[in-house]
Order: sequence, then C-alpha cells, then structure tokens
Amino acid sequence: MTRGDMETYAIGLGSNRRHARHGDPRRVLLAALAALECDEIEPIDTSPIIASAPLGPSRRRYANAAALVASRLSPPEMLARLKAVEAAFGRRRGQRWSARTLDLDILLWSGGVWSDAALTIPHPAMTQRAFVLAPLASIAATWRHPLTSRTVRQHAMRLRRAKPVDRHVPAF
Ligand code: AMP
Repeated sequence: MTRGDMETYAIGLGSNRRHARHGDPRRVLLAALAALECDEIEPIDTSPIIASAPLGPSRRRYANAAALVASRLSPPEMLARLKAVEAAFGRRRGQRWSARTLDLDILLWSGGVWSDAALTIPHPAMTQRAFVLAPLASIAATWRHPLTSRTVRQHAMRLRRAKPVDRHVPAF
C-alpha cells in the first residue's frame, strides 16, 4: 500500500476517559482524528468507532477506531507526532490500567517491519486484540501482516473463533 512516494500507516486509536473540552471517549477519538491531519499526514480512511467494556481495574467504557493515513514521515517521526497529539489530549503516561484520554499506536506500515528500542511495527499486540482488529478490518481487510503473512481479516476471524467473548484487555 503506497501512494506515490508516500508510505501508508495504519493507526490504532483508543480512549476511555472524558476530555474536559471534547467530551466522551467517542468524541475524543473524533477530535484526535482531526488533530492527526496536518501538512505531513493525509487521511485515507477511518473505521467506525467501536465501543467496548473494559475488564481491567478501570471500569470505564472504551472507544476504539483505526485510521489509514499517507505520509512521508519515517516511523520514528510518525511516533513522535502521535505522542505529541496524545500529550495535547492530556494522556498520563505510565499508568497502563488507568483511564486514558487518548492512546495512539502505529499498527502497520507499508514499509513492513520496523524495530528499535522505542518502536516496533507491526504493533506486537495487534493480532491478539479484537478491539484493534475489528475496526482495522473494516478499512484494511486485505493488508497482509508482514511477519505472519495473514491478512487483517484472517487475523480478525482467527481471534473471533478463538475467543467467542470479545475481551477488552487494555495492556500488553
Ligand atoms: P503504551 O503506553 O502501551 O501505548 O506504550 C507507549 C510506548 O510504546 C511508546 O512510548 C512507544 O515508544 C512504544 N511503542 C513501541 N511500539 C509502538 C507502536 N507500534 N506504536 C506506538 N507505540 C509503540
């Protein structure tokens, strides 16, 4: 999936906390999608926003979505941009089970695999998370995971078969 000299990124979005200005988690994601768009990041497609109930100590509802964007940014530059957007929404780092205003992950990248101390692509937990795969399958069903060679749709179906109950596990 490339657009001219641009790379395509699949971004995962999650929120389980109200934002004073934007409102409930669903509205946080809509605002985050708007905030992601800039001169360097061009939106391609956005999934529906799905709501799921958490199982962790934080008893809040989650909103999750996925987006495809085109960009010339390198993976570390894209991660820096995602962290800047998270910070602008007031995410508190280091509290994995707590309420999160906004969590942004790089799920897939058209360049394939990336691995350094701060960044792993594909996102290592994406194939185990229904709340990631379900929205992603609605916009990138045929994108092949570069390490498993399975498509996003196949991963989503495998997970549905393996786990009839859609468990939301917010940490990895
Ligand atoms: P978390 O709080 O679980 O979202 O983890 C955030 C940290 O995971 C970031 O500071 C990144 O350095 C690191 N990380 C590693 N791989 C990825 C990825 N594919 N997308 C986003 N963050 C990643």
